[in-house]
Amino acid sequence: MNILILGSGGREHALAWKMAASPLSEKLYCAPGNAGIAREAECVALDLADHKAVIALCQEKQIDLVVVGPEVPLCAGIVDDLEAAGIKAFGPGKWAARLEGSKGFTKDLCKANKIPTAAYERFKGAAAAKDYVRRKGAPIVVKADGLAAGKGVVVAETVAEAEAAIDMMFDGSLGKPAWEIVIEDCLVGEEASFFALCDGENAIALASAQDHKRVGDGDKGPNTGGMGAYSPAPIMTAEMNQRVMDEIIHPTVRAMKAMGAPYRGVLFAGLMITKDGPQLIEYNVRFGDPECQVLMLRLMSDLVPALLAARDGQLKNFDLRWYPDAALTVVMAAKGYPGNYKKGTPIEGLDAAAQIEGVEIFHAGTIAGTGADGDHIRANGGRVLNVCARGKSVRDAQTRAYAAVDRIKWPDGFCRRDIGWRAIEREMKKS
Ligand code: AMP
Repeated sequence: MNILILGSGGREHALAWKMAASPLSEKLYCAPGNAGIAREAECVALDLADHKAVIALCQEKQIDLVVVGPEVPLCAGIVDDLEAAGIKAFGPGKWAARLEGSKGFTKDLCKANKIPTAAYERFKGAAAAKDYVRRKGAPIVVKADGLAAGKGVVVAETVAEAEAAIDMMFDGSLGKPAWEIVIEDCLVGEEASFFALCDGENAIALASAQDHKRVGDGDKGPNTGGMGAYSPAPIMTAEMNQRVMDEIIHPTVRAMKAMGAPYRGVLFAGLMITKDGPQLIEYNVRFGDPECQVLMLRLMSDLVPALLAARDGQLKNFDLRWYPDAALTVVMAAKGYPGNYKKGTPIEGLDAAAQIEGVEIFHAGTIAGTGADGDHIRANGGRVLNVCARGKSVRDAQTRAYAAVDRIKWPDGFCRRDIGWRAIEREMKKS
C-alpha cells in the first residue's frame, strides 16, 4: 500500500516509524513531515488546510490510505473530503470530530448519555458566566469552546481568577474571541490518557499512558503541549480500563452512531481518576502527542491493518498485542518554550544517543540544514525532539532515555529531568 501521513510532529514520526515496519506498506509519504520523518517517509511540502491539494497529491501518488495526525484538519473535515474523492482515510469525519472541536457538544453528549464528567454550564456571555462562578465558588474550571491548541483551559483557584479567565476568553486575548465557554466543577484525582480505536460501532482499548503537561520539574510552571509521557499508566488497572470502556467509551460510540455521526479513528479520552471512579475531562479525536510515541514503542502488532480495520468497520474481532515493557519519552524543547524561543539552533549527538539499547528518537520539530562543517539537524519549533526508550519498568526506561538525552548536544534546548516520577514512586513502593 502507498500510505500518506498528514502532520509534522513527534506523533507523526512515531506513526511513520511504526508503519514503515509494516509489510503492508510499500511507499510511505508524509506531508509536511520533518527532518526525522524524512528517514522513514518521503516528505512532501503541503498546506493541510488546502484539501484540494491533499487530494491531488493522493491521486498523483496513488495513495491507498491517508492517516491524519493532528486535530485541525480532522475538525476541518479532511476525512470527509478525502473519502468523497474515493480515498480511504483514517480518522473521524467533521461531525464526529466535534468531540474535540466543541467542548459544549461533548459535555451535552455526556449529560444525555450519563457518561461521568464534571458538572457544567455553557455560556455565551460574560455576565451570566460570572454570576455562575460567584454562585459556585472556587476552584472552578473555565474552558473556551473550540480548538485552542491547549490554551483554552484555566483551572481557577479563586473566583477573581475565574472572572479574569472569562473576560480573557470573550475578549479575544487567546487569539480569537470565544463564541461560547464552558464552566465546570474542578475534579480531584490523578489524570490519565486513555486511547481506543473505534470503527463507528466497535471500540478496542489501546494501552494507557500518562503525560506531564507542565513545563517544569515537579509538574510546576505553565502548561505546555506535553513535556513527556510514559506507558502503561500504573493507575489504569485492568478493572479501571474496563470501567472506562463500559462507562465512557462504549456509550460515546453508541451515541455518536445514533446521531448519525459514527466515530471512526482514535478516540483519546483525557481522564481524571477520582475516588468515585473515572471521569471524562475531555475528548481528543486523534493520538496524543507525546503519548503516541510511547504507545508505538509498546505496540507489537502491525499498526496498518488495525487502522484499516477501524476505517472499514471491521474491529469487532480485532486484537492488538502489546509488549509488556514500559516505554517513556522525554520531550526536548527550545529554551523559552512555551513562551518565545529561537528557531534554527543546531543539534548534535543524535546518532550517539540513538545507539543506547532500547532508545528511539522521534523528531517533533526539526529541519535538516547544511553548514560550513557539513549537515546539521536544526531546531524548528517549540517541542523539538522526543527521546524515547523501552525498559523492563518505567524506571528502567527513564534511565535509558536520560542517558540518551545526555548524549545530545543542544545548548539551546532543555528538558524536564523527572518524567515518569509518579509511576516510579509507585514501582518503588511495590518492590
Ligand atoms: P483540557 O485541555 O480540557 O485537557 O484541560 C487541560 C488540563 O486542565 C487538563 O489536563 C487538566 O489538568 C485540567 N482540567 C481540565 N478540566 C478539569 C476539571 N474539570 N477539573 C480539574 N482539572 C481540569
